[in-house]
Amino acid sequence: MEKSDFDWLHVLLVDDSVTILNYVNKVLEQSFDIHHIHTASSAPEAMQILRQSSQINLLFLDLNMPNVDGIQLLSQLSQLNYKGYVVIMSGVSTKIISSVESLAKTYGLNYIGTLLKPIHELDFQYIIDKIGGSRQKNASVESLKVYEIIRAIKNNDIEVLYQPQVDLTTRSFIGVEALCRMNHPRLGMVSPDRFIDKAEESELIIHITLAVLKKSIGDWKKWWQLGLDIKLSVNVSPIALQQIEFTDTLLMLLEEYAMPASRLCIEITEGAMASDHAQELMNLNRLNMRGVEIALDDFGQQHSTIERLQNLPLTYLKLDKSVFIENKDSMNQLALINASISVAKDLNIKTIAEGVENNSVMSLVTEMGCDIGQGFYIGSPMEAKKIFNWQREWKAKT
Ligand code: C2E
Ligand code: MG
Ligand code: MG
Repeated sequence: MEKSDFDWLHVLLVDDSVTILNYVNKVLEQSFDIHHIHTASSAPEAMQILRQSSQINLLFLDLNMPNVDGIQLLSQLSQLNYKGYVVIMSGVSTKIISSVESLAKTYGLNYIGTLLKPIHELDFQYIIDKIGGSRQKNASVESLKVYEIIRAIKNNDIEVLYQPQVDLTTRSFIGVEALCRMNHPRLGMVSPDRFIDKAEESELIIHITLAVLKKSIGDWKKWWQLGLDIKLSVNVSPIALQQIEFTDTLLMLLEEYAMPASRLCIEITEGAMASDHAQELMNLNRLNMRGVEIALDDFGQQHSTIERLQNLPLTYLKLDKSVFIENKDSMNQLALINASISVAKDLNIKTIAEGVENNSVMSLVTEMGCDIGQGFYIGSPMEAKKIFNWQREWKAKT
């Protein structure tokens, strides 16, 4: 990352230790070229600075300070409607930190992460990368307009790419995840981040889901005819799962292509499972009884709870890529992942690690006992016809 990229950052450091204030100040200035830095040695002082300067957009906050502590300051921040990033600095136990983290989220604060004291200079890179990342994300994730989505559905411009999944023990190719793209007349191939959310605000998502299912089952059939027997995983939006007719439509598609139900897996998300529970569960159970497998996607993102695993007919648990990419060094995250893998094992659920970007993540997830891997290191999402080529290269590599 370019150093001078951070002119837009206005930092406030809050810590009752002058040594820490000076240290953090120096690292931010010298290693990251961040120059707009304020410091405060108490919570009231911090609040005063925040009230005076609306420019502050990154806050480093010590949890333990005399009088008003960091936890109280968090609630004051939300009252002040502070919209910037929050980083916590702390020497207290990881258990307390986790509850503070969830508190920060409850207050709707833009919480980035925790730096454990003694803070090492390298720890800042993680925070800075994350800020760079999320800023970029906000800039690029501008939603398409509804008419553009309708046009794409009508013109059959919803395309599907496939990302390989491999068995982590044998390294063999076992399946693909179907990932949709929109072929936009002006923007070219557009990522789902720019239209799925919008499509989910209306029933348009149902059309997209069906288009992806049709295309991918068609591609699966071609692979099958060429002698490739793999599993196909498709992301299914909760809105689609809430349709009474979803199961029948899907079963009819399977029949039309003579695809065994056991080769199909549908990926669902947890956030989803909150609202119209009954209909979703009904569809999931019906499909599962017919042999369709179910994967819980995005596990490890905000709302994940291990208890959930028991209540759904799951075959797979997909550990979200952020777990291994952004937070891979956080002890809390690793602990959650370890616990999830072992609960999943007890429940006979297989774990899929997403975001296997390099060899070290590949080794880490293998050691942690994940069953299946998916990520750029193994293969990026590709067109259906490229799968055979990829398979040849992968075989040569392993
Ligand atoms: P997801 O289902 O969790 O899919 C995994 C995403 O991670 C994909 O992004 C994939 O390209 C990306 N990815 C794979 N390996 C790596 C890696 O090693 N590192 C990193 N940083 N990323 C990796 P993509 O294709 O942009 O899809 C984003 C999300 O859009 C998907 O997340 C899924 O929630 C949604 N989506 C995609 N296709 C469909 C669809 O057909 N229907 C619905 N409802 N949602 C879809
Ligand atoms: Mg998925
Ligand atoms: Mg996922």
